[in-house]
Amino acid sequence: MLSAFHRSLGLKIFAAQMVIIVVGVVVLASATELVAPSVFEHHMAEMEDMMGTMMGMSTDTSLDTNFRVAVREALGFAAGAAVVAAIVVSIFVTRQVVIPVQAMMRASQRIAAGHYEERVEIPGDVKRNELDELAQLALSFNQMAAQLQKTEDMRRRLIGDVAHELRTPLTTIKGTAEGLIDGVLSSGPEVFHLIYRESDRLQRLVTDLQELSRVEAGAYVLERQPVPVAQLVESTVDRLNRQFEEKGVSLNVSILPDLPSVMADEDRIGQVLLNLVGNALQYTSAGGTVTIRASKTRQLVSFAVQDTGTGIAAEHLPHLFTRFYRVDKSRSRAGGGNGIGLTIARHLVEAHGGSIRAESAGAGLGSTFTFTLPASSE
Ligand code: ADP
Repeated sequence: MLSAFHRSLGLKIFAAQMVIIVVGVVVLASATELVAPSVFEHHMAEMEDMMGTMMGMSTDTSLDTNFRVAVREALGFAAGAAVVAAIVVSIFVTRQVVIPVQAMMRASQRIAAGHYEERVEIPGDVKRNELDELAQLALSFNQMAAQLQKTEDMRRRLIGDVAHELRTPLTTIKGTAEGLIDGVLSSGPEVFHLIYRESDRLQRLVTDLQELSRVEAGAYVLERQPVPVAQLVESTVDRLNRQFEEKGVSLNVSILPDLPSVMADEDRIGQVLLNLVGNALQYTSAGGTVTIRASKTRQLVSFAVQDTGTGIAAEHLPHLFTRFYRVDKSRSRAGGGNGIGLTIARHLVEAHGGSIRAESAGAGLGSTFTFTLPASSE
């Protein structure tokens, strides 16, 4: 009985009301017994004086006893009615409070057991500020459940994607090793190069994944300071110039004069620019052009990397910044790409308070990747 009381909110609500009723009844009864007689006698004496002198009437001594009995009976009825009201109110409150709480408890247990799609019911078509506290709690509970479901979906997808990305190079390395063991393949520079390429791809994938998890978790410190725009662009150009020459793609730079410096972590933003210009080179054939532009709009400096390369069909544009997303898997893979670079770039730019976007007039019509950074006030 005691443990049922401990576990039941409904019983506790009922007990709280019973305590109030019992206290009320005891106080009223004591008052009737202790105070009422003297007050009653005082009033009767006054009345006796008045009536006795007026009509020569005398008071009945049993009047006092009758009054007490009447008060006790009235108290008894009142207590009975209060208990019935307490039961009705307890049932009502239990329905309003305990049932939604129990629903949330069941839902949280199912979520803990891995059923992330579980939600609690909320009265439809009501705005948040029109809901009572419990309904608002249920709403927050559902939002938390949705977030958990999203995170779990991402985790599952990530494991699937990573497994998929690892499978191709591993299969190639294993197949080559089997060929060598069985004597189907003869060892030679080609085979060695193949194994080297695939191991290199694996290593790059692991490094990129490590970097991605670091930026996604925000586990890095941005060392932001004013950096001249020209300095950022020049160091990227210096690092990629030779590759542009080798491929026969021209690299142009167009920086508007009097641009302010940007508040940036030079290494991190250098990494973003290198990724965008590297991509532009990879997806542009010989004879094409890549242009890096920088301009200022209000308090932001805008960097654009424009190429005359393969372009991107409109349906792919919204997904480019999603990890492992590649428009043409085999082409990207051949170029050593794993679809992580732009995801990291987006995280880094957003961590600086900027934004990044991709535009393209369509396949074959070139692309432009633009990102913004806050201008330094110095
Ligand atoms: P990857 O390492 O595969 O290049 P990214 O995240 O850098 O990964 O890019 C994702 C995808 O976006 C690429 O696989 C490619 O399909 C597309 N992409 C990126 N930059 C360009 C570009 N300049 N022109 C055409 N497609 C591009």
